[in-house]
Amino acid sequence: MKNKIVMVGLGVMGMPMARNILKSGLDLSCCDVNWASLKSLEGLAHSLSTVPEKVAKNRNVVITMLPTSDIVELVIFGDQGLIGALDPDSLIIDMSTASYNKSMEISARLRDLGHRFVDAPVGRTPREAKTGDLLVMAGGDVDDIEQATEIFEAIGNTTIHAGPIGSGLKSKLVNNYMAMVNNAVTGETLSFANQVGLNIEATAKLMSSTAAGLGQLNTNYPKKVLANDLTPDFPISMAIKDLNMASELASSFKGKCLFGELAKRMFQEAELDGMGHLDQTAILKHLLGDKSML
Ligand code: NAD
Repeated sequence: MKNKIVMVGLGVMGMPMARNILKSGLDLSCCDVNWASLKSLEGLAHSLSTVPEKVAKNRNVVITMLPTSDIVELVIFGDQGLIGALDPDSLIIDMSTASYNKSMEISARLRDLGHRFVDAPVGRTPREAKTGDLLVMAGGDVDDIEQATEIFEAIGNTTIHAGPIGSGLKSKLVNNYMAMVNNAVTGETLSFANQVGLNIEATAKLMSSTAAGLGQLNTNYPKKVLANDLTPDFPISMAIKDLNMASELASSFKGKCLFGELAKRMFQEAELDGMGHLDQTAILKHLLGDKSML
């Protein structure tokens, strides 16, 4: 059956995604509360409206690209929401970065009404949304992902089928967790460098060539803990020593290393577990509660 799509949410990400879906020749109607942005698609989209129900008639696929799960819920089930007009057995694809719990609730409500749900948040930025190079992380049934493939290919260059419903969001949120923590620790570290009198640009350049800047997943993890090799290139006991000295340096300049204190606590717990002599990447085994190597 042909996909007759309605997309809701044409903001910074949604608008370029909609344009790429239209460029690839798919049948798309669009909805946004902001008529000014919808207007730019006049003559291109099948139909346009600020009211979800009005564009949902005879449509069998929904894409939502909205700020929050509460808005997704409102657009689907609220007054004049999509649900009143959609074809039976429609496929609802939520591409927002949404709450996992709320999405599972929405998915169950849709299933009870005879519809299907895929969570498919995207990675990357508005730049890649424009060029059609997004990363799609999809969770759902194989047949439903298959039905959505022509849409995912129109907006992205990589689709990962992460598993059953909810797995796309799990992947996205786990990924963003690390991205945001990395961002904050990068800021804290460069501020630490500045506080002790180092040049920020020079420090950033130096760290771009070490595991600090390249990241553990691009350096140590594949060779060590992920390969089940915990022989110490650099043991946990030395990680604690270095964190102690960094912290001492920061204090001498009246600075603070908040992430360092947390990391030290984790390494110390691993040491108490008897892992002090193992490679620093054994911190993963400690956090997994895996003591099989001891
Ligand atoms: P945005 O705020 O630019 O766009 C949201 C759009 O939804 C707006 O056009 C707004 O008018 C519309 N909208 C809000 N309430 C509505 C309603 N009740 N009915 C119809 N339309 C409504 O947000 P964005 O940056 O495009 O992000 C959309 C989603 O994508 C978010 O979940 C965000 O977390 C995620 N995301 C954003 C980026 C990014 O770099 N901006 C990257 C990846 C994922």
